[in-house]
Amino acid sequence: MQVSSNLFAWEGRDEIRIEGLEIYAHHGVFPEETALGQKFFVNAVLYTDMRLAGRADDLSLSTDYGEVCSSINRFLTEHTFRLLEAAAEHLAEHLLLTFPYMESVKLEIRKPSAPIALPFSSVSVSVTRGWREAVIACGSNLGEKENYIREAAEKIEKDKRCRLMRSADLIETEPYGGVEQDNFVNGAFLVRTLYEPEELLAFLNRLEEEAGRQRLVHWGPRTLDLDIIFYEDAVIRTDKLTIPHPDMHNRKFVLQPLVQIAPWWRHPLYRKTALELLEQLH
Ligand code: ADP
Ligand code: MG
Repeated sequence: MQVSSNLFAWEGRDEIRIEGLEIYAHHGVFPEETALGQKFFVNAVLYTDMRLAGRADDLSLSTDYGEVCSSINRFLTEHTFRLLEAAAEHLAEHLLLTFPYMESVKLEIRKPSAPIALPFSSVSVSVTRGWREAVIACGSNLGEKENYIREAAEKIEKDKRCRLMRSADLIETEPYGGVEQDNFVNGAFLVRTLYEPEELLAFLNRLEEEAGRQRLVHWGPRTLDLDIIFYEDAVIRTDKLTIPHPDMHNRKFVLQPLVQIAPWWRHPLYRKTALELLEQLH
């Protein structure tokens, strides 16, 4: 998979369309539906960068729509969901995990024989799901610092919902925030992920815990700190999560690794690229 130099570069561009794929399956809330089954129709739009395959005329560089149709059929006949929403959600993830060139997918599942006691032609649900780009900053200043960061990278790489695209060189930095403590080792990872921001945070918190992290002093020593610096161009502010990270633009130890792996990224509030944010710190 190529690393884009421009967020959303792929979205809304190259696409493969599958229309009206007919599948006999057993999804539904009512016992008759799961016992007898009924017809479903699937429309799918696959967003995938087709330039490489197009130039080389090579199917192995693209997403084989025949394979996608078989995969959709197999998945929807081997699983039974009560809700179309669940069928669409799980099917989207299955396709994104199965086909490496598929960046994003729009799925519509229609149920023309849904049990509705009124005349109607069809009901359907539609979802769009895809790999999202995010940067995770990492830091450690306790124990085997490089090891904690290396292990975190390995766990990110192993997780099926994450792809580690780039890792910044590790740098040694002085502590930040006024607490007397050992120097830090800092780095950053560019990832593609199927996790929603809150899920990504929960995943990273789990990795921190597995590294034995204890939260004793705010900004105090830690075996492993993993912060979400950005997630596409999302702006999020909840009790648990602020994205982009609220202090990133003041931290050279965040911006320096960030510039190495995603210099093009533009802060959605300050409207400056990672490189411009770093330059303005000097
Ligand atoms: P810090 O990283 O500022 O030193 P902690 O790692 O102890 O502090 O994180 C404290 C809390 O910050 C976390 O429990 C998390 O809910 C919250 N938080 C808010 N935004 C983010 C973000 N973008 N990335 C990681 N944690 C975040
Ligand atoms: Mg943190």
